[in-house]
Amino acid sequence: MPERVKVSFLGGLGEIGRNCAVVEQGGRLVVLDCGVMFPNPEMPGVDLVLPDFGWLTERAGDVDGIVLTHGHEDHVGALGYLLRNVQAPIYGSPFTLGIARNRLEEANLASSTTFVPVADGERRTIGPFDVEFIPVTHSVPYGFALAFHTAQGVILHSGDFKLDLNPVDGRRTDLARIGQIASDEGIRLLLADSTNAEEPGYTGSESTVGGSMRTIFASHRESRFIVACFASHIHRIQQVADAAIMFGRQIALLGRSMLKNVAVARELGLLSIPDHAFVEIEKAGDIEPGKLCVISTGSQGEPMSALSLMSSGESRWLSVTEGDVVVLSSHAIPGNEWAVAKVMDGLSRKGAVVIHAGIAHVHESGHARQGELSTLLSIAKPHSFIPVHGEYRHLLCHSRLAIEMGVPATEVLVCEDGDVITLGDEGIDYAGEVSSSYVFVDGLAGDVGTGVLRDRRVLAEEGIVVAVVTLDRKPGGLVGGPELVSRAFPSEPGHEDLAQAARTAVQKAVEVAAADGSPDPDAIRRVIRRAIGRLVNDRTRRRPMIVAVVVEA
Ligand SMILES: [Zn+2]
Ligand SMILES: [Zn+2]
Repeated sequence: MPERVKVSFLGGLGEIGRNCAVVEQGGRLVVLDCGVMFPNPEMPGVDLVLPDFGWLTERAGDVDGIVLTHGHEDHVGALGYLLRNVQAPIYGSPFTLGIARNRLEEANLASSTTFVPVADGERRTIGPFDVEFIPVTHSVPYGFALAFHTAQGVILHSGDFKLDLNPVDGRRTDLARIGQIASDEGIRLLLADSTNAEEPGYTGSESTVGGSMRTIFASHRESRFIVACFASHIHRIQQVADAAIMFGRQIALLGRSMLKNVAVARELGLLSIPDHAFVEIEKAGDIEPGKLCVISTGSQGEPMSALSLMSSGESRWLSVTEGDVVVLSSHAIPGNEWAVAKVMDGLSRKGAVVIHAGIAHVHESGHARQGELSTLLSIAKPHSFIPVHGEYRHLLCHSRLAIEMGVPATEVLVCEDGDVITLGDEGIDYAGEVSSSYVFVDGLAGDVGTGVLRDRRVLAEEGIVVAVVTLDRKPGGLVGGPELVSRAFPSEPGHEDLAQAARTAVQKAVEVAAADGSPDPDAIRRVIRRAIGRLVNDRTRRRPMIVAVVVEA
């Protein structure tokens, strides 16, 4: 009887970001993508959210490889954290590995990591699997769908993809190969990108953005241009550069990741921009506005990005002035809308003409819409289907689409983060769970627990009250205080009163608790917190953080 195959989902199912799954056979593991998620406003002070690698760390010795579908942060951004504890070679296209290497260099792990570049259509034995790397078109060059040839048949993971018949680099999603696998071996299980599963129709070709770029350049010939897009969107950068060069402009790159990614892409021959078309950003100020185009990071409104600094007048390199044209060639990731709007407002105040995807065709999605998802389903004809990469409603929508396309409802599983499924001779089924907790990273401070985050939310929304008392060892001995200090807590008229009442309440509570002469500081802290908490909640309906400090005299 052929061995069972398991798939564990560590992230990306029920949220956009931190994509990571593990495929297992005979006790051996292959990790599929290893991404981060960007924090939402409920995560104050958090820089990144990672999958929980605890389970993988425990099984570090069983990991035979890490395969990457493409170079976006939500697929490769967490490698520097996983590889601290799990050593395994990384497989991906040369461009994807170039981005991954940058990430690992920052984490000082690049020299101890084996990178295995794979070409379009190549097959590699990785652990127990024969893994096939199938070209797909996406908003970053050289994305792959992955076909795992397993003991239980082929598991096809679409990666992030769209069906672009006229992609900028001519590299289309290889539907023919997918169809061939479907008819030769059959596709046992399809896992497919659900990002745009709610959207009817087809995503437009990336090459259409080039046309509208040219139109915009043509109608602002005298203005300085600043175009912001994702630093990994090499095809977008190519089209912006082509339009700029066509209108006699030089190109300056702004933003660390923009410089790094463009360097990787040029080295691999994925970008064709002649050397002489570039000008260093340091010299950009000397160039006539009509002869310059700056291509910049910051299209998501990231606070420290080049564009954000320009909008607040803090950029070292450029100050945006009247008549400049700023193009946001992007779409805000959910959660970033507010930050992007703020940047656009800042730029408008400085007199710039701001052009964004809401008013001109300066962006196309990299993800398949319903028409394309149905096309993939009709070509792959999967026996079973699990939607991946999306918020819950996207997954649900995609699962309905699969049923409409003829996959039996019993063969369509809607999974969430942490779910494990098993493929056996008897069929597909849920098979338990692994931890899918959010792991929060706060800059150099390292991992932040959920407790810290809860405290931060309380501090942000309710404020803090600190009570300090000094205790004597004698019975009933409150010798000093209580002193009360509050921050981020309302101080309207009438609250003087509240402070006095709180002092009295604390005094009474401490006297009762310390009456027997052996005051236990922990118990005293508890009664103080309770006394203040009750009073404040009764009078103000607030629940500030209450910190009691007991000093023994
Ligand atoms: Zn992607
Ligand atoms: Zn993605």
